[in-house]
Amino acid sequence: MVELKRALDAKGHCLLEMPTGTGKTITLLSLITSYQFSDPTVGKLIYCTRTVHEMEKVLAELRLLNDYQQKELGSTAKILALGLSSRKNLCINEKIRSANSRESVDAGCRKLTASWVRAVAVDNPHIETCPFFENYDKQGAEAILPPGVYTLQELRSFGKSKGWCPYFLARHMIQFANIVIYNYQYLLDPKVAGIISREMQRECIVVFDEAHNIDNVCIEALSVNIREQTLAGATRNITKMTEIVEKFKASDANRLRAEYNRLVEGLAQRSDLPISDTWIANPLLPDDIVKEAVPGNIRRAEHFLSVLRRLVQYLKIRLRTEDVETEGLVPFVANINTQAGIDQKMLKFCYDRLHSLLVTLEITDTDEFLHIQTVCDFATLIGTYNHGFSIIIEPFDERMPDVPDPILQLSCLDASLAIKPVFQRFQSVIITSGTLSPIDLYPRLLNFNPVISQTFTMSLTRDCLCPMVLTRGSDHLPLSTKFDMRSDPGVVRNYGRLLLEMVAVVPDGVVCFFVSYSYMDGIINSWNEMGILKDIMQHKLVFIETQDVVETTLALDNYRRACDCGRGAVFFSVARGKVAEGIDFDRHYGRLVIMIGVPFQYTLSRILRARLDYLRETFQIKEGDFLTFDAVRQAAQCVGRVIRSKADYGMMIFADKRYSRHDKRSKLPGWILSHLGDAHLNLSTDMALHIAREFLRRMAQPYDKAGSGSKKTLLSQEDLEKMEGKTDIF
Ligand code: SF4
Repeated sequence: MVELKRALDAKGHCLLEMPTGTGKTITLLSLITSYQFSDPTVGKLIYCTRTVHEMEKVLAELRLLNDYQQKELGSTAKILALGLSSRKNLCINEKIRSANSRESVDAGCRKLTASWVRAVAVDNPHIETCPFFENYDKQGAEAILPPGVYTLQELRSFGKSKGWCPYFLARHMIQFANIVIYNYQYLLDPKVAGIISREMQRECIVVFDEAHNIDNVCIEALSVNIREQTLAGATRNITKMTEIVEKFKASDANRLRAEYNRLVEGLAQRSDLPISDTWIANPLLPDDIVKEAVPGNIRRAEHFLSVLRRLVQYLKIRLRTEDVETEGLVPFVANINTQAGIDQKMLKFCYDRLHSLLVTLEITDTDEFLHIQTVCDFATLIGTYNHGFSIIIEPFDERMPDVPDPILQLSCLDASLAIKPVFQRFQSVIITSGTLSPIDLYPRLLNFNPVISQTFTMSLTRDCLCPMVLTRGSDHLPLSTKFDMRSDPGVVRNYGRLLLEMVAVVPDGVVCFFVSYSYMDGIINSWNEMGILKDIMQHKLVFIETQDVVETTLALDNYRRACDCGRGAVFFSVARGKVAEGIDFDRHYGRLVIMIGVPFQYTLSRILRARLDYLRETFQIKEGDFLTFDAVRQAAQCVGRVIRSKADYGMMIFADKRYSRHDKRSKLPGWILSHLGDAHLNLSTDMALHIAREFLRRMAQPYDKAGSGSKKTLLSQEDLEKMEGKTDIF
């Protein structure tokens, strides 16, 4: 952690590649919280995770750490740490939280908490409000969370005990908390960050954990897809808004006039909106939001709605194309001007203008207005940016040319755009993961200068990691999922035999990753026809990941049960799928991971091609380098699921001849490479089997968990003091 401290001292950003499952999170938390204790001018720690599950894990570790700190340091170590998530995860109003989707919960809550609903409810007891919000609001500044570490469940319990809404309480308390843990989007997506993270000061330390895919998250935050359904929905939304405007004109014209006057004065947004009414923020990056007046020709509600109608109509026509079209933003925007009479400035203000209108019209069922929001989001982005984006219109999915499925994609090509405000705003941003190799590529992709970028290996008491590169099958013919080889029956059979022979010797859980869902379906079918699947099932039960989350969760639960009861199981999964990213296969849940093939992205995808061109022209990153880097990081991520602690052990097989090439292998993280000796390269199935047997026998021997001599990993106070004498960093 010397490196991390150096980065914090230098008030700079850093990249740390640390092996998974070896205490990365607790180490980061220990150092940063101690740093906060020693220097009160250091701001809060903003810890960003990808999933709620990861957030809960971080909070659990933080609780252990803080208990220890309080025992050692007393009350000075008292902190307030909380996780912030969406209403879906925090709401305690049973009627609202039971809705299916996040959007429905959000809209359900708004129907009860919007300021105009509450204002009417004061005189009309039949209008429903949320008692938890009312109680919370009544407390005003008194509604606070006492110091402590709060998981989402604990926030909900606290809210229930007080009768306060935990969601709004958590949003209010993040300004006082020492540590806030939330999703990447809360910092990277301008639509969310503009509401939640606006107040965070520069002195904060930001950590992006498991950040190997951070470039993709950045790109998604600024990309918008428009389909036929979006435009149909947007048309319905416009019709509904027009009706409401007409109604207001007849009954309450003052309201529309007040909005018009406010817009004339140059105020797109009301600055006095209560917390429950601020639900959409501008999709633009903070520096690009202009503080100009909304253009005169969209100030009147009916004029704005007519502009939206023309825009939707224009997009509908563009979607009717029979050819694939790729266009830069400048000609696309110029075309809208000529065809629909909407200039760039009007486009730029669409989102603000829509927000203002939705609030003026007192619309609370926001989940029904998502389509028009998507269109305005799109309009504002194309009206603001000239570079780093591309418009791609495809009449059907390349892989299914017979099914018409037109889509218009505004694709962000530059990951550095979304993260730039974070680097500029916070003094230290720490990007960490078990898979950041080659580590010099991230600063180029994200366009920043880290003060430290470091790859760490693991300090282990025994060699509990056994990576292998398998290039040949049992008949010594080469193995690969390369396009020209993947459907060769010999290759399919060899992969099947590899799995069959491995499940016969490896106990408990085995996980097998494939390069795509379609490839997985094809190969499992072939194994079934060849009788291999039946033979595999003699040894272990077989479970398969599907694109349905509920089905996959069920399959995972049953997989675990089969491992627990000793029956053993194989889980078939897909690189870049849900399982590859967030699910651990530690201990007996995963003694072996086989990565079948190199998980390259679908290289004919037009979005990918546009991004590759952009990376080459702007950052001088070669196409091959990026594709290999991306495929190998996904493969490393898959196999990394198997080791989650130093007491654990597991094998990893990279089953494709292409892994034996230096350009691929060298991009694996250092902690895997350090265990990948020459004897584990270029193996055939028989050789891999022999190594697996040896490894399992070795792992079955008793060992000293704390280690000894140079392999000592559990340090005593005495050891620490000795180390302290040797280094001046502390
Ligand atoms: S105010 Fe809170 S408890 Fe009430 S509906 Fe909204 S999120 Fe749920």
